[in-house]
Amino acid sequence: MRKVSIFGATGSIGQNTVDLISRAPTEYDVVALTGGANISQLAEDARNTGAQIAVTAYESRLQDLKDALSGSGVEAAAGQAALVEAASRPVDWVMSAIVGSAGLAPGIETLKQGATLALANKETLVCAGPLVLEMAKAHNAQILPVDSEHSAVFQALVGEDIRSVDRIVITASGGAFRDWPIEDLPRATVEQASKHPNWDMGQRITIDSASMFNKALEIIETKEFFDISPNQIEVVIHPESIVHALVGFQDGALMAHLGVPDMRHAIGYALNWPNRRELPIQKLDLAALGQLRFIAPDEARYPALRLAREVMESGGLSGAVFNAAKERALDLFIQRRIGFLEMTDVVSSVLDRFDGAKGHIDAALTLDNVLQTDHLARHWVDEAVLKRAG
Ligand code: NDP
Repeated sequence: MRKVSIFGATGSIGQNTVDLISRAPTEYDVVALTGGANISQLAEDARNTGAQIAVTAYESRLQDLKDALSGSGVEAAAGQAALVEAASRPVDWVMSAIVGSAGLAPGIETLKQGATLALANKETLVCAGPLVLEMAKAHNAQILPVDSEHSAVFQALVGEDIRSVDRIVITASGGAFRDWPIEDLPRATVEQASKHPNWDMGQRITIDSASMFNKALEIIETKEFFDISPNQIEVVIHPESIVHALVGFQDGALMAHLGVPDMRHAIGYALNWPNRRELPIQKLDLAALGQLRFIAPDEARYPALRLAREVMESGGLSGAVFNAAKERALDLFIQRRIGFLEMTDVVSSVLDRFDGAKGHIDAALTLDNVLQTDHLARHWVDEAVLKRAG
């Protein structure tokens, strides 16, 4: 039996992973499941899968979790240290599906154990790509991408030499406001931004799709994971979300990965890798689809794409600043304290402030420095918003 753990089990990716694992209960021995506020889901899945331990990120919810698990024999734990402890338990395969930079420390701990890390948490590579990849190498651990675009590129590269790649094209749906007049965007509400045209995902990534901060993170993730130059990475809007990514080779061939928008494909690929197995996914009916559209993104509508390129140029800790500032700006948008377009303005101002702070730029890319920078960038977002309000 393969020993597996799922970090962020109560979320959208986590639940899809639980679904796949629960379909083959004799093949998987579940060690740890983690969640946040959704204690009842966490406890239910821990009981059903016979997990060794369930961890909530919030210490204040420990008693609730203990109550929900009472009589089950599943251990209950809470807090950041408990998440890292759970990641240190020996397993073969881990799903990293916590949202945000909170996924970084458990991910690094997983790699230290030499386990295979199925990485949905793109923030891990955005904040600390070189550090994480070095860690994987040092401990002989495999990282498998779960983001649909990166899984698609990974699959298109099987048997290929990365040096023969000319470009990588990742697709974007364009999000909830793709067809809105630009002048209406300042009034876009949280509810409107939380509706994705094609994918059923967590609220935060759905809003990030509307602003294209999600695609901005994915451009950086592409650079880090596949180690190619930023100018070889292209983004194209593809409203149908059927082609997930394309890899262009030096001989002009362009290999595309197509499939219905269902994350269980990328999760299942990472779970079964290097093999392929049947998955409970609808087959694509090309004739019924009829046509696929591809449109160049307008950077005036999606300024986050330009910010991603600036971040890649700066390197070092600027990915951690970018991600943390984006996460905090998103919190403030969800709390209705700033408008939709203000998210980009605020993130941009925090990146500028960081660029001006020489000592920070030169700091080494260690986990401690990433976490401190993350904290600082969030604080700077709050200061920038207060200044704007004043
Ligand atoms: P969700 O918001 O649906 O789920 C997030 C998970 O993380 C939940 O289990 C949540 O717990 C837990 N969580 C929230 N805050 C914390 C914290 N501070 N510490 C520890 N755990 C926490 O997110 P998604 O499943 O949509 O996304 C997860 C990751 O996968 C993200 O990095 C996202 O970018 C990436 N991804 C998602 C895709 C998708 O289709 N959803 C596609 C590709 C990548 P609880 O809900 O109990 O509070």
